[in-house]
Amino acid sequence: MTSTAEWKEKESKYYMFLVRRQPMVIERGEGTHVWDTDGKEYLDFTSGWAVNNIGHANPVMAEAIAEQAKKLLQTSNQFYTIPQIQLAELLVENSCMDKVFFCNSGAEANEGAIKLAKKNGKKHRNGAYEIITALNSFHGRTMMNVAATGQPHYQELFTPIPTGFTHVPYDDIEAMKQATTDRTVAVMIEPVQGEGGVNIPSEGYLQQVRGWCDENDLLLIFDEVQTGLGRLGTLFGYQAFDVEPDIMTLAKGLGGGVPIGAFLAKDAACAFDPGDHGSTFGGNPLTTAASYASTKYIIDNHVPAHAKEMGQYLEQGLRKLMANHEFITDVRGMGLLWAVEFNSDMTPAVMAACNEAGLLMNPLRPNTVRLMPPLTVSKSEIDEALTRLEKGLVEAVKQG
Ligand SMILES: *Cc1c(COP(=O)(O)O)cnc(C)c1O
Repeated sequence: MTSTAEWKEKESKYYMFLVRRQPMVIERGEGTHVWDTDGKEYLDFTSGWAVNNIGHANPVMAEAIAEQAKKLLQTSNQFYTIPQIQLAELLVENSCMDKVFFCNSGAEANEGAIKLAKKNGKKHRNGAYEIITALNSFHGRTMMNVAATGQPHYQELFTPIPTGFTHVPYDDIEAMKQATTDRTVAVMIEPVQGEGGVNIPSEGYLQQVRGWCDENDLLLIFDEVQTGLGRLGTLFGYQAFDVEPDIMTLAKGLGGGVPIGAFLAKDAACAFDPGDHGSTFGGNPLTTAASYASTKYIIDNHVPAHAKEMGQYLEQGLRKLMANHEFITDVRGMGLLWAVEFNSDMTPAVMAACNEAGLLMNPLRPNTVRLMPPLTVSKSEIDEALTRLEKGLVEAVKQG
């Protein structure tokens, strides 16, 4: 049998060094729990980066994948396939959107949304092409999304980068107004910024953005790659703020663990003609069957409402921790997307101690960790996670 140390040695020999991994090799999961190759159990408050929304190894998904694998994996979009149409109907009938196109990741979904906005500019807006995005946003790793992302450190290494994006401070409507020109065709924004720090917009900001877009004939694109599918306590993030976008992108939680993305649009924004865009794998029977099973489970079992309730419970616990430990300087979030900020760069020490205590988190910033458990997490699992978090924090401070 290959030992944990041997797996890690092989990784450094064969895998490109692009991420400083946490030290464990994860072997299997069930619900909110995962186990490493040494048999150690953890509560997984990363859920594959806000992906495994209905928990690890959910039998509903396992069955859907196995059944579909026995029937048909891939055909290309040259043909009609049933799971793709079923998933399209489910998403459209449960959102404010009219049409959908499937792809394979969040970055690809945003690429499609950006192309759709530009096509709208060509067709209806005299060639307008500029897109306003926010500072501290995150839209993905392709060159176009690196340009869209308002964080210079993602761009500097890869210049020249595509032009046509203007970045404005998040949560600042005046800056957006000033950045708008005749060339502006769209605004692309996350309802809550995820990678950028779990930043919640002020009351009314997204409404003001919607109003500005309406006044100026701009398309409003919501990047819901992280906020979609229940993460904020509503099926889609826009519902939590009561603001409808014209175009919406999804990925992460959409597949419940399989790689799938989507962009959706209202009919008025569907400017593409056949051949304008495409994808070999996008919307194939395997990923759409899995995504259908996961999404239907989320809807039928009222998982977003559960996430909202569990989010409030987690918030209470995190606020109690903050009241008891002055090195915690901020706790912020919504639904089951939370950040805990410290008064010093103690994230590495906190991560190490929490790993030891059996709680997996995401190191968001040198002084901030992010918690995003499966949306099916229970109260008792949250209690246990808070116990392990406090144990890890106390240990990290003791060592620090
Ligand atoms: C993760 C993320 C992306 C990129 O998705 P990938 O699947 O990694 O390409 C884009 N936008 C937001 C808001 C994200 O959180």
